[in-house]
Amino acid sequence: NFRCRSAFKLLEIDDKFRLLQPGYSVVDCGAAPGAWSQVAVQRINSAGTDQGSPRGTVIGIDLLNIPPLDGAHFLSNHDVTDPATHDKLQELLPRGRAHVILSDMAPNASGFRDMDQEKLITMCLSLIDLAEKILLPGGSLLCKYWDGVLSHHLQEKLSSVFSSVRTIKPDASRKDSAERYFLARMYRKPVK
Ligand code: SAM
Repeated sequence: NFRCRSAFKLLEIDDKFRLLQPGYSVVDCGAAPGAWSQVAVQRINSAGTDQGSPRGTVIGIDLLNIPPLDGAHFLSNHDVTDPATHDKLQELLPRGRAHVILSDMAPNASGFRDMDQEKLITMCLSLIDLAEKILLPGGSLLCKYWDGVLSHHLQEKLSSVFSSVRTIKPDASRKDSAERYFLARMYRKPVK
C-alpha cells in the first residue's frame, strides 16, 4: 500500500530506466507523505528485506512532516534549497555521497501559472548545487518541473553537468497537466 498515487509515476520511470539498484544511496527531495521513499526503500533494499542483496540508504526531505517509514531516514521540516540541509545530507549519507537524487518537489500553487513554473525551475536549479556537493560521478537526478518558457534553461544547465538528459511524461501523470520530469544521467563534476 502506497501513501500516495505518485508512487506509480516513480515505479513506471524506474521500471523503464532502472535508476534504483540494491545498495544505492538515494536522496528523495519533497518526500512527504512518503510514497516515492516507499518505492525507493523497496528497490534499493534499505530496510534489508532481501538478505541476499546489498542494503541501501534512503534519505527523504520535506518542509512538511513525513510520517516514519522503515528503511528511510527523514528530515522533516527541512528546506531542500537551504545549504544547511546540504551539510546535513553530507553527514548522513554513507561517505557523504549519493547515487541518485529524486525530486518530486512542488511549490504551493499560487494560481499564476508562469510564477509557479518559475518558482519550481528555481528549486530544480538548486538541485544542481546539491548534486555538486553529494552526487557521485556517474550518478542520476530525476526532477519534476512544469513545462513552460524556462524549462529549456533548466535543461541546458542539466546538460552542462550530465552526459544524458531526457524529458519524461509518465503515463501515470495527468494528460492535461504541464507536469514533466527531467531524467539526467551520467553526472560529471563541473570544471571550475
Ligand atoms: N513524492 C511525494 C510522495 O510520493 O509522497 C509527493 C511530493 S509532493 C507532490 C511535493 C512536496 O514538495 C510537498 O510535500 C512540499 O512540501 C515539498 N516541498 C516544496 N518545496 C520544498 C522545499 N523547498 N524543500 C523541501 N520540500 C519542499
